[in-house]
Amino acid sequence: MKISDPVKSLKGVGDKTALMFEKIKVMTIEDLLRLAPRNYLSFDEPVDIDETVVGNRVAIRASVQTYVDVKKIRKLTLVSCMVSDGTGSVKLVWFNSPFLKQVFHIGQSFIFVGNLSVRGNLLVMEHPEYYTEKQYEELKSTLQPIYPLTTGLSNKVVTKAVKSALPMLDEIEDKIPENVRDTFELMPLKEAINGVHFPKSFDDMLMCRDRIVFDEFFYFLVHMRLIRERTVKAKNQYIMDEHKWTDDFINNLPFSLTVGQYKAVCEILKDIKGDTVMNRLIQGDVGSGKTVVAEIALLTAVNNGFQAAFMAPTEVLAMQHYESLIKDFEKYAITVELLTGSTKLSKKREIYERLENGEIDIIVGTHALIQEKVQYNKLALVITDEQHRFGVRQRELLSKKGSEPHVLVMSATPIPRTLAIIMYGDLDISVIKDMPASRKPIKNCVVGPKYRPTAYKFMKEQIDMGHQIYIICPMVEAGENMEAENVTEYAESLNGIFPDTVNIEFLHGKMTPENKNSIMESFSKGQIDILVSTTVVEVGINNPNATVMMIENAEKFGLAQLHQLRGRVGRGDAQSYCIMLCSSDNDSSRERLDILNKANDGFFIANEDLKLRGPGDFFGVRQSGEMLFKLGDIYNNAEVLKRANDAVIFLERHDYPLKDLVEDDQKGIQL
Ligand code: ADP
Ligand code: MG
Repeated sequence: MKISDPVKSLKGVGDKTALMFEKIKVMTIEDLLRLAPRNYLSFDEPVDIDETVVGNRVAIRASVQTYVDVKKIRKLTLVSCMVSDGTGSVKLVWFNSPFLKQVFHIGQSFIFVGNLSVRGNLLVMEHPEYYTEKQYEELKSTLQPIYPLTTGLSNKVVTKAVKSALPMLDEIEDKIPENVRDTFELMPLKEAINGVHFPKSFDDMLMCRDRIVFDEFFYFLVHMRLIRERTVKAKNQYIMDEHKWTDDFINNLPFSLTVGQYKAVCEILKDIKGDTVMNRLIQGDVGSGKTVVAEIALLTAVNNGFQAAFMAPTEVLAMQHYESLIKDFEKYAITVELLTGSTKLSKKREIYERLENGEIDIIVGTHALIQEKVQYNKLALVITDEQHRFGVRQRELLSKKGSEPHVLVMSATPIPRTLAIIMYGDLDISVIKDMPASRKPIKNCVVGPKYRPTAYKFMKEQIDMGHQIYIICPMVEAGENMEAENVTEYAESLNGIFPDTVNIEFLHGKMTPENKNSIMESFSKGQIDILVSTTVVEVGINNPNATVMMIENAEKFGLAQLHQLRGRVGRGDAQSYCIMLCSSDNDSSRERLDILNKANDGFFIANEDLKLRGPGDFFGVRQSGEMLFKLGDIYNNAEVLKRANDAVIFLERHDYPLKDLVEDDQKGIQL
């Protein structure tokens, strides 16, 4: 058996399981070994019932007080009993497990582990795990991995497969140069991978993860260094000094540019007529108006007789940009086309041809723009929106489509300057610090589930005023399929609450791109009043008429992500609102949300977030998804990022050929 063999070759993994593994992108044994748990279960010392916190996973040591009650409700068997530890009582509930009647007898004591909730005046624990004192003693102080799963693939199966793959770890090759490993005192890769799956302790797990994160950052930074070497000094082959349309466009905008926008535009215009090629990042908070800056650059390129490409991370956003360009550039003689994964084959062929012969001036699209078949005629400017959703590699692939075109990337990621210099070392940075003057700051509130009816009433008033609403649905951890179901159900339940005149639609990741686009289109045309959605609306979507954003289970999101979601409202002149529904009594969740409640400034939020996060906060809250690192998070792992950066500089000083470190498809590293 080799480490590159398919997972199927492991004992106990059959064809069916292998297919499931494929869904979570585990094809080979190495993939499996590099699959990182998304969380760990810990078995802590049980706490007194009167000290438990609702919403948290807790362990209690309690004795059974009542006979086990078995009820049948339609197809469901409900098993319940009361337990107590002298400081309080909890009602335990299980579904479809009638055999438990034989397990629990009055007076017996167990350790119960589960999530506590409140029903009426009862504390309830649904589907608790139960252990005898002896069993629990053995588990205590271990961390059990919880893997990313998919329907049909249980944690038990994955854990077992990982265990049987562990002996193959010896075959994993550590590609970090030895002098870096020594100087930076890196833990051996094998030990780290082993410890990420089955850590000896919480601290051990963090240390092991740091090693993996180091590798991710290291390769990312090496790659960026290589790009910089190549591009920074590249000669400008596309001098753009014709500004007729540019000036006309700016003068006829329905608003005047903010100071930040204006400065960014000046910097771009200066870059593109300079001696060397432009490599610039526009960093500006959500809603600061980056798109119009991109439009000005695109227009200038075409005005100078060149082609330009505009890439967005999602089809929905690409579509939105395409439509804005068509509308905004109507009076200029410009041909704009849209190319995405769902563009019809015949249309694609036609677009390829017209791109190559130069008939198309601006192409807007997704990753489809960097497909092999796409050939440009005189590509002089490439722009990527929401750059943090791509990777350097995709940015580079797009720019390789031309011969050293100008590069403009846009991001709302509020990263501190020191980190920005590392992450975007190859770019000059323009920061848009101000918001359009006509904007009113978003009004925020953090509330409990009891507030929901009031929130719905408030929404109805906003709808009557002609405004539109986003509701971000509770997250489902179990898998994407359930997420879709969840959104659908939520939307249906709203239909019973709002009158028929209110048009409610839903959006989730599993819908076809055509469906998503048509929903987004009707939403932006004002035909949908309430859009119930997963986080697919997170990036870039612009509907200035939407004034309310309600986020269910707000405590489960990272602050950066919440800030992005909230950024979908407050994009027009009307007063906007963000309602964060928090279903946990946990003080630290409340404290985190409170930061958002008080501030609308992304930079401030990111900084506060960083201060509040302790090493224990890695899990439970979904990370922001910045930069597409698998494990690394530039905020949480800022120290590791700096070390990785030092390591790359160290290699450069020793004249190490960085090129040798980057293969085309680095395993487990997203570039
Ligand atoms: P983001 O920076 O998040 O990409 P957008 O470019 O989508 O923001 O702009 C958000 C909204 O603000 C759009 O509706 C846009 O037309 C509007 N906008 C942009 N610049 C200005 C400005 N200077 N004054 C008023 N509104 C503006
Ligand atoms: Mg945008």
